[in-house]
Amino acid sequence: MIDLRSDTLTRPTPAMRRAMAEAEVGDDVYGEDPTVRALEERLAALFGKEAALFTPTGSMANVLAVRTLVGPGQEVLCEARAHIARAELGAHAAYTGLTMRTWRDPRGGVDLPVVREMFAPDMGPFFVPTTAISVENTHNFAGGAVTPLAHLQALKEYAGSVGAGVHLDGARIWNAHVATGVPLADWGACADVLAVCLSKGLGAPVGSAVVGTADAVAESRIWRKRMGGGMRQVGILAAAGLHALEHHVDRLADDHAHARLLAEAAGGDPDTVDTNIVVVEREDAAAYVAAAREQGVLIAPVGPTTVRLVTHLDVDRAGAERAAAVLARL
Ligand SMILES: *Cc1c(COP(=O)(O)O)cnc(C)c1O
Repeated sequence: MIDLRSDTLTRPTPAMRRAMAEAEVGDDVYGEDPTVRALEERLAALFGKEAALFTPTGSMANVLAVRTLVGPGQEVLCEARAHIARAELGAHAAYTGLTMRTWRDPRGGVDLPVVREMFAPDMGPFFVPTTAISVENTHNFAGGAVTPLAHLQALKEYAGSVGAGVHLDGARIWNAHVATGVPLADWGACADVLAVCLSKGLGAPVGSAVVGTADAVAESRIWRKRMGGGMRQVGILAAAGLHALEHHVDRLADDHAHARLLAEAAGGDPDTVDTNIVVVEREDAAAYVAAAREQGVLIAPVGPTTVRLVTHLDVDRAGAERAAAVLARL
């Protein structure tokens, strides 16, 4: 089976498992796990921020990150198909007590004139105040689309001018970095706080992080514990993240090439494929998925007429070519 359902399906490589087995560990709730500390320092440096916090999931990282900017009864603005709005099961409302309003952009990007119109200043006891704007790069449900750096720079400047914070859901910021060549620190400069995932295309079995100011990270450390996310000898997982940062970033370019190949085979336009996610429309998504499965290719329906294919570390060139042949036949 060639599994293209998601880039979360990767399994740790033998070299990653060795790094995990050999990791030096300590109790991270005491701040004494040297491997976790090394990972957090490395992530902070990569994005040009003061500090970072290792979390078990990207969803937890997003909840922690957004709540450094938005309190109970305040709002965050985001794109309508954002992961924080659709795929975190209302965690931001359930834990933080914030509200969300959304704009819609076909590529999951930032529509600055619309954001300006939506922004609500603090007017006392009349309206919900906007205290943050959230962006997702690359955008998952918009098919791995990259929002250009200039758009995020303009958003950051605008947000600063009205006193709002910017949260970047960078679960796949690595893909945006490799697809554009824009340094991670430049993406980091567009946000006050980021959430990044090590467990997607980078291939770690577990792990994400909040990256931001020392204050935001200190506050997130308290809330992580409060949510039950204080972990002990977790250097064994952080070691996988460090290994991934060392060995699995540049190779994302292969995933992007494979995604274009699959888009072309499925009759789509490869020029709409920015990174490692391909979204195709089919009359009957479930039937298409079943037919592909019969020929050894697993893909995911994400709507009645929409299927999603995701390339990753566990699908090599030969696998991508075999899957492309199946899609072309279908
Ligand atoms: C996967 C993902 C996350 C985090 O997901 P977890 O499964 O909680 O690690 C956050 N944002 C986006 C855009 C994602 O694709």
